[in-house]
Amino acid sequence: METSLDAREELDQVTQKRQQHTCGHCGLKLTGGEIVQLHHIDGNHDNWKRKNLTAVHKSCHNYIHMSKSLD
Ligand SMILES: [Zn+2]
Ligand SMILES: [Zn+2]
Repeated sequence: METSLDAREELDQVTQKRQQHTCGHCGLKLTGGEIVQLHHIDGNHDNWKRKNLTAVHKSCHNYIHMSKSLD
């Protein structure tokens, strides 16, 4: 299933709001000017269900993938 850029941006906003604009990894605010990315918790990048997504800082996202070696 194709997910459009607009839909992803909306998901991004929804996910951040649901997390009260805190990072799903470090718990700090996402509004510090750092790039925010959506992480697929199960590692499946085709799974765009909301509960599979968590908004994290770009640096935290890198860390998650380095430590878990998912995809
Ligand atoms: Zn973070
Ligand atoms: Zn990820």
